[in-house]
Amino acid sequence: MIAKLDLDAMGNELDTWCCLFSTDNVIEAHLVNGLLNQARITTKIQGEALSSSLGELPFANNAIKILVPAIKLPLGEEILVNYHQSKSNEDWQCPNCNEQNGAAFQCCWHCGSEYEQSK
Ligand SMILES: [Zn+2]
Repeated sequence: MIAKLDLDAMGNELDTWCCLFSTDNVIEAHLVNGLLNQARITTKIQGEALSSSLGELPFANNAIKILVPAIKLPLGEEILVNYHQSKSNEDWQCPNCNEQNGAAFQCCWHCGSEYEQSK
């Protein structure tokens, strides 16, 4: 259905999608996509379909792009800034179930305990 997305075709302003984020890391793409969806931002992912249809391995050269509606771009950028800040933090271990969590997660993905930042 999304056979071809012509980013240069900005004819219809209501339908303008901007590339907010690109990465060659499938996991990171999904992480960012999840953060955006949590903020009720509709996203389109470009590039991922190629790699998933060819097998399990992500291809390093296949940049995955996350597109957001132009009107949501400022909000998306804000989320990305937060994301990059949290990424510079280290992973943390859940005090409740000892599960290892990525720094971007604010609560344990496993048991839902909140991350208590020791500052
Ligand atoms: Zn936990």
